[in-house]
Amino acid sequence: MTRFIDVQDLARLVNRKGLATCLLEMADYIRQDYLRWEQFEKCPRLANHSPNGVIELMPVSDASRYTFKYVNGHPINTRDGLPTVMAFGALADVATGTPLLLSEMTLTTAIRTAATSALAARYLAREDSRSMALIGNGSQSEFQVIAFNALLGIDEVRLYDIDPAASAKLVANLAGRPGLKLTIAGSVAEAVKGADIVTTVTADKAYATILTPEMIEPGMHLNAVGGDCPGKTELHREIVEHARVIVEYEPQSRVEGEIQQMPDDSPVTEFWQVLAGHAKGREHAEQVTLFDSVGFALEDYSALRYVMDVAQALDIGEDIELVPSLANPKDLFTLLQPRVTSTRSIPQARSVSA
Ligand code: NAD
Repeated sequence: MTRFIDVQDLARLVNRKGLATCLLEMADYIRQDYLRWEQFEKCPRLANHSPNGVIELMPVSDASRYTFKYVNGHPINTRDGLPTVMAFGALADVATGTPLLLSEMTLTTAIRTAATSALAARYLAREDSRSMALIGNGSQSEFQVIAFNALLGIDEVRLYDIDPAASAKLVANLAGRPGLKLTIAGSVAEAVKGADIVTTVTADKAYATILTPEMIEPGMHLNAVGGDCPGKTELHREIVEHARVIVEYEPQSRVEGEIQQMPDDSPVTEFWQVLAGHAKGREHAEQVTLFDSVGFALEDYSALRYVMDVAQALDIGEDIELVPSLANPKDLFTLLQPRVTSTRSIPQARSVSA
């Protein structure tokens, strides 16, 4: 049987654990898997582009588990009442190909992206970092705030979005969380001025210049999340040129990241090398560091592994017959015989949900 986790199940799972705990624990799963980098069979994600967006398939595997994620990116969707990013994915047993988990991944992606951002910042931001500017206050934004608070102790966040309602939503959603000071700024420049960390998480299918060189101060760490597909960037080219650039998986980031603006041989370091101690993260206090995040399949592998472990521990979700359970594995036809009734053929209340 395959464990099935829908959006409500995942929300229940996160609320049972607490979001900050999920972020901390998922960040540790991501760290553990990045440290096993060479054990994974990797490839850049497969992207199908259309004028308004992209649909991507993100597979990865090691010797025991295979995962994939389906994810879209349609910045115009919110105008029609749909999220910009929607996702689902699966985790399977490599030895037999049996799907073990089918899960929602829209909420999961927001958690894994924020966990990855904050994990990277632990190695790239100055240790005395306390403040962050957060440009783009849509679906991903609350998760970024809570991740940076939980993993780095960032307690002062200055917000900016071209849509004031998005910033107001963020403030309302996080109201009452102790130890967080949120301020809405009047411009990107005002939000960024004096910040230790700058996170850009905007959505626009364009070569945008959310950050321009005069906004960048020595020692800043830039966490660029929203530029994640060809023709979709957030930083002025000169910023990328002068920063120490850390990417997830170079073959994919060259096509999708901020570095798509740079020559193919521009210097970059893959994050796993920093985690493993093969390369430095931040080299000195005055350096500007850039985590050029696009989202890599390995982070989804870790996220699905985490969801599976927690769902089993808390007994959340339900077991479904996604692939046949056959008495005779050579007799698929038997499923079509009238006497064979599937256990799920009669609609019934979900039994396993916690
Ligand atoms: P969203 O549509 O919910 O929010 C995006 C916000 O950006 C909106 O509120 C919009 O008003 C704002 N915005 C657009 N242009 C802006 C500008 N010039 N200045 C300030 N604000 C601006 O989208 P989301 O789900 O929060 O995703 C944000 C981005 O992050 C998307 O581009 C998405 O593709 C990307 N993303 C990346 C990863 C990753 O791993 N790197 C993961 C998930 C999402």
